[in-house]
Amino acid sequence: MVQAKGVIKNFGALEVLKGIDLTVERGQVCCLLGPSGSGKSTFLRCINHLERIDAGTLTVDGDLVGYRRHGQKLHELRESEIALRRRDIGMVFQRFNLFPHMSAVQNIIEAPVNVAGIPRARAAQEALRLLEQVGLADRADHYPAQLSGGQQQRVAIARALAMKPKLMLFDEPTSALDPELVGDVLDVMRTLAAEGMTMVVVTHEIGFAREVADTAVFMDEGVVVEAGDPRQVLVEPEQERTRAFLSAVL
Ligand code: ATP
Ligand code: MG
Repeated sequence: MVQAKGVIKNFGALEVLKGIDLTVERGQVCCLLGPSGSGKSTFLRCINHLERIDAGTLTVDGDLVGYRRHGQKLHELRESEIALRRRDIGMVFQRFNLFPHMSAVQNIIEAPVNVAGIPRARAAQEALRLLEQVGLADRADHYPAQLSGGQQQRVAIARALAMKPKLMLFDEPTSALDPELVGDVLDVMRTLAAEGMTMVVVTHEIGFAREVADTAVFMDEGVVVEAGDPRQVLVEPEQERTRAFLSAVL
């Protein structure tokens, strides 16, 4: 579903991704870990067409990110084409993600109605089903300010799912939450994974990664230091850098 080969991303003179190789198969969960500034968010943003890579290749579901093949030639995608591709990818950020002036249901139906052109009544029905799925059936008409951080984050997940994405990206979805709210969000993600959603999750929740991920990837300074079975990478890492990181976060 996601394939990165030698992905390089620079910001001016700063080389942020220095040749990332990574594959996430359909239906699999990949957890990305690494110190602050190692390039995790940048990599997710590249997958989601929010950043343009400088070298290497990146594909989502077989399509090159940012380009369309025409015979031997590559053409840059137009904004409208990028928007179409991005519909297939759901993204959940650390925080401040919901539209504050819209209720939970309104947040969820916004894109289905205004972007995908789904009739409002049908979108609302689907939104209620999604709210049930994330355990918030009774909060449909609440505004973000009336919801806890964990509830807001679950609405954000429901909102991303409303576009029926084939891939979900999570960027530290629980790190801004009070500890007692983390579990409910992780439970929703766990269920999503069990249902077969392909997911790339930046998280420092080692327990979650160990239990749910098919692959754990440890990044540092723009390179993949170590990747593989989470029970190996996160329990008995081979690289000293991985070991040092894990002992700092655990
Ligand atoms: P954290 O754990 O703190 O979220 P991260 O691994 O997600 O870190 P990134 O946000 O990807 O790291 O940032 C990697 C590097 O790229 C950092 O040095 C950051 O300052 C730099 N960077 C990120 N975005 C930009 C930008 N738009 N312009 C310039 N530099 C940037
Ligand atoms: Mg980040």
